[in-house]
Amino acid sequence: MPSIAENIARIEKGLKQETRLVAVTKTKPAEVLREAYEAGAKRFGENKVQEMVAKSEELPGDIAWHMIGHLQSNKVKYIAPFVSLIHSVDSLKLLKEINKEAGKNNRTIECLLQIFIASEETKFGLSEAEAKEIVTSSELADLSNIKIAGLMGMASNTDDTNVIRSEFKGLKALFESFKQYENEWVEMRELSMGMSGDYLLAAEEGSTLVRVGSAIFGSR
Ligand SMILES: *Cc1c(COP(=O)(O)O)cnc(C)c1O
Repeated sequence: MPSIAENIARIEKGLKQETRLVAVTKTKPAEVLREAYEAGAKRFGENKVQEMVAKSEELPGDIAWHMIGHLQSNKVKYIAPFVSLIHSVDSLKLLKEINKEAGKNNRTIECLLQIFIASEETKFGLSEAEAKEIVTSSELADLSNIKIAGLMGMASNTDDTNVIRSEFKGLKALFESFKQYENEWVEMRELSMGMSGDYLLAAEEGSTLVRVGSAIFGSR
């Protein structure tokens, strides 16, 4: 079996310069993260607040911590001091809470809006209309400690690459169309799409951040 370092090197070699790797380390113990860090991974994706906080305390300070899982408003305060990018914002209410906690830490926290693109009903996310409401909201003017830096989406869990590709194309099109709303709080710079099974496809369709777990660390 290839090592973690070999997996990271292989994946990064397959990506163009504009697509960066977020190593998804959820459920993995700190020593595994350390191995990935020593192999050059500097962006780690976690989906649980407690787990991210605990690992951030054990690992080097130059790691960029990415929250990729559903985030409850009452837990924002625990990650606000250090989180680098929140991929999973799915309401204006959550954005307001992030703004409040970012302010307490004298920070601006970058956020992505999670868009629902899959055909399954189990995944979190905003519809295109709901996302448009947020990026055009006059209430953003009060949120000086957040920035909406792009969009995130998860494709359907299917082997049909045509379905996956068309979902990624749809998200990329939305990303491009939202550039018309760019202002002080909105910048369409990051497009987070692609996981272990579909990151190459996502990269072809314009992803800037791929979130890859099992292809690096093995199955969970
Ligand atoms: C777990 C997870 C990933 C990584 O999934 P793999 O298939 O292991 O690469 C990516 N994005 C999100 C939101 C996840 O929860």
